Amino acid sequence: MDHFPRIGLGWDRHRLQSGRPCWLAGVEIPSPVGPSGHSDGDVLLHALTDAVLGAAGLDDLGTLFPDTDPQWAGASSTMFLEAALRRCHNRGWKVASADLVLVCDRPKISPFRGAMRKRLSQLLQLAEDRVNLKGKTTEGANSEYMEAQAVVLLIREMPAQASG
Ligand SMILES: [Zn+2]
Repeated sequence: MDHFPRIGLGWDRHRLQSGRPCWLAGVEIPSPVGPSGHSDGDVLLHALTDAVLGAAGLDDLGTLFPDTDPQWAGASSTMFLEAALRRCHNRGWKVASADLVLVCDRPKISPFRGAMRKRLSQLLQLAEDRVNLKGKTTEGANSEYMEAQAVVLLIREMPAQASG
C-alpha cells in the first residue's frame, strides 16, 4: 500500500432553467433559475464527487449513478458525495483538503458563499480552512450555464491504534 497523497480533479456544467430549484453545495439558493439535470443538478457537488472518485482511482459519477437510472431522478447530490466518500474510506483514503470554483453569472451567489463553504466542510468532515469555494462570473458570456471545478487531496487514513 503506497502512502503518497493523491490529487483528483472534477468538472461539471449544467444548463440553467426557469423554475428549477437552485441547489449548490447542498444549500438551496433563492433564485428564479436553477441548474437542470436528472438529479438536483448541484454542479458543485457533482464536480467535488468526481474529484474524490478520480483521486481514489474509481469510476466517475456518471458511471456509478447513470442519469438513465430512474432511481436518481431528483436525487439529492449529497448522497452521491457521501457514497463516493464511503468508497474512498473503504480503500483507506480520506480527504485532506478541497478547493472549488463556481462559474456562475446568475443568480448572485456571493451572499451564500459562507453557507456553502460551511456545508461543504460538514459533508467532507473537514475544518472550514481545509475547504474553499471561489465564485467567478463570465460577465454575461455564459449566463445560460452554471459550471464548477473541484480539486481534492486524498491522504491515507491513520490506522486504528491498538488499545492497551
Ligand atoms: Zn452534474
